[in-house]
Amino acid sequence: MSFDTLGLSPALLRALAEHDYTTPTPIQAAAIPLALAGHDLLAGAQTGTGKTAAFGLPLLQRLTDSAADARGPRRPRALILAPTRELALQVHDSLRAYARHLRLSLTAIYGGAGMKPQLDALRRGVDVLVATPGRLIDHLDRRSVDLTQVEVLVLDEADRMLDMGFLPAIRRILGTLPKSRQTLLFSATFEANVKQLAREFMREPQEVMV
Ligand code: AMP
Repeated sequence: MSFDTLGLSPALLRALAEHDYTTPTPIQAAAIPLALAGHDLLAGAQTGTGKTAAFGLPLLQRLTDSAADARGPRRPRALILAPTRELALQVHDSLRAYARHLRLSLTAIYGGAGMKPQLDALRRGVDVLVATPGRLIDHLDRRSVDLTQVEVLVLDEADRMLDMGFLPAIRRILGTLPKSRQTLLFSATFEANVKQLAREFMREPQEVMV
């Protein structure tokens, strides 16, 4: 199987070829067509399975297909929540590589780093925002970020975020997002708390377990 059959745009296929991605991993083959079709996804995947591209490629394609609001600085149209600074940076770097031929602006915000560069980046305008929940709450409190344009939400390593006590932060963040968005939830495990989160915040999710 090759990436050509999954419905991705030439600009994304070119970036994949340049990174020597020739064959989709199982999670990518299963998740990409469903996500491109607009479904919410409940995906079971460990680190190292290629999950970042499984949510990242359809998300980037969707943003290229839909026009940003042309008034003022761009506000995030995709939000990826990740449990740690390390994972947020890793996701950001991977998405930036996949998006190299697209005209999209990406940034990561996370705790344990100065506010100033993050405030500057948000002020300049961002299409894709990768964030840890605690720091995103700080930005919401300062009104330095506006999440009302978010079309796609990704919860990456949802089980870890819940284990780390981020449920109240996640609830609050999700409360500020448009109801009409697409939600992609990735988790290594599906205990009752992850299922509850999905019931609360997702719409008829398709399940992808590999
Ligand atoms: P992830 O599970 O998203 O952290 O990805 C694990 C590693 O696999 C990363 O180094 C990716 O760059 C790489 N990778 C993901 N998908 C593919 C693919 N289809 N072909 C080759 N490498 C891949």
